[in-house]
Amino acid sequence: MLFQFQAVGQALFTQGLVSPQGGNLSVKLGEHLVITHRGSLLGFIQEGDLVETGISKNNRATPLASTELEVHRCIYKNTSALAVVHAHPPYAVALSFVEKEIVPPDVEGRALLSKVPILSAEMGVKPGELADEIARLMGEYRVVLVRGHGTFAASQLLEEAYYYTVVLEQSCRLLYLLKALPVDPGITPV
Ligand SMILES: [Zn+2]
Repeated sequence: MLFQFQAVGQALFTQGLVSPQGGNLSVKLGEHLVITHRGSLLGFIQEGDLVETGISKNNRATPLASTELEVHRCIYKNTSALAVVHAHPPYAVALSFVEKEIVPPDVEGRALLSKVPILSAEMGVKPGELADEIARLMGEYRVVLVRGHGTFAASQLLEEAYYYTVVLEQSCRLLYLLKALPVDPGITPV
């Protein structure tokens, strides 16, 4: 399992989808989850950077877990996901300030993600309810974008959740580029 965390963490970091101490990863193991340590460097994950704690119950390791533990727990409680990737992809975060949702303009993005909702304070989501709202949307979408913050992607495998994150970022980069071109971004791909 360490290898999976290392491979995905390193890929996220080298592709600029997280800052050195940003982002977090987890997998579900029955009633427990294994999650990256608070403040761990995703690009350089070692064995000591993984923390095992309960999905519903705390243990001695709970305070060491990522600060986003609550969101990961909520997703596992409310969906059938077995892995969660949280990242800070720059193009997706940039568009989160100006869009209400992301509809990928490219074939791969549309086939895989269809649509990505953007959670924001304007939607009436209070900070204390953010984890619940992300988990609720994860039942319907593969990736949820939180305005000015980042993405939560859930799947059966860590690599899949990573793949969804990368595809969303590619779609957002394309959307950004299309905005600079004299074409209709709503144009249908063939
Ligand atoms: Zn974050």
